[in-house]
Amino acid sequence: MLYDNFTPGTVAPKGSEQAAIWFAFQSDRLVMFDDGQGVSVPQADRFEALNIPFSESYYIGLFHQTPVYAVAVPTESVLPPPYFQKDLRALMMEVDETLFSIAGRAKQVVQWSADHAFCSRCGAATKNHSTDRAKECIKCEFTQYPRLSPCVIGLVTRGPEILLARSPHFPPNMFSTLAGFVEPGETLEEAFSREVGEEVGVSVAEVKYCSSQPWPFPHSLMIGFEAEYAEGDIKVDGVEIEEADWFHVDQLPLIPPLGSISRQLIDQYVEQWRR
Ligand SMILES: [Zn+2]
Repeated sequence: MLYDNFTPGTVAPKGSEQAAIWFAFQSDRLVMFDDGQGVSVPQADRFEALNIPFSESYYIGLFHQTPVYAVAVPTESVLPPPYFQKDLRALMMEVDETLFSIAGRAKQVVQWSADHAFCSRCGAATKNHSTDRAKECIKCEFTQYPRLSPCVIGLVTRGPEILLARSPHFPPNMFSTLAGFVEPGETLEEAFSREVGEEVGVSVAEVKYCSSQPWPFPHSLMIGFEAEYAEGDIKVDGVEIEEADWFHVDQLPLIPPLGSISRQLIDQYVEQWRR
């Protein structure tokens, strides 16, 4: 588990003797290099030593005893060799869970910071809060915290069958769990029941929380559920969902890749049913 070796923080501890690890982002892409054994992120006492142009850096925590920073690299900058950039989504399949998770955290901090350079209340410039992960307006003192968007995602089950759906932007033949953003005033369970009703027209019962996953595209927090089918026939809206169906656990279509919460929820139910 990640938290066995990563300790989040906002203020760097004084006097670390380890060269820091730098998660530098140029837009959505992580700055990496190939160390001969695979792709890795740079490590150095100071980011300046790497000769990569940057605009801001943020301490985000300790990996074992090594300080970790998130860095913003201007979009137009050219990276010096041997560095290159790698799309974070593609990276999910290539690196271990810990590295992906820290990279996701770093990306969200960098992106949130760039998106909140000005106060949303009065328009004046903001500055970093001295101790918290927050931006404070220099004029009206309004404080803005990192934006997180809770999104419910889950599986509707009917004995040995699960309900999966596909959106028009999925790869051909791929089906996944249903998902949608939580609206103000809703509980997570209400949000999941509503989304299922809106997207496929069926109602559910026994909505149970399973697990969650930060999803840094751009700032979602996926909250996973499992629910039992109650009533109604599948009826898709044809816009967000183009096709939905019941699939037997032994005859599943193409499903999302390992590493996604959607896949975890599906695998978990299939295993549970087979036992
Ligand atoms: Zn303000």
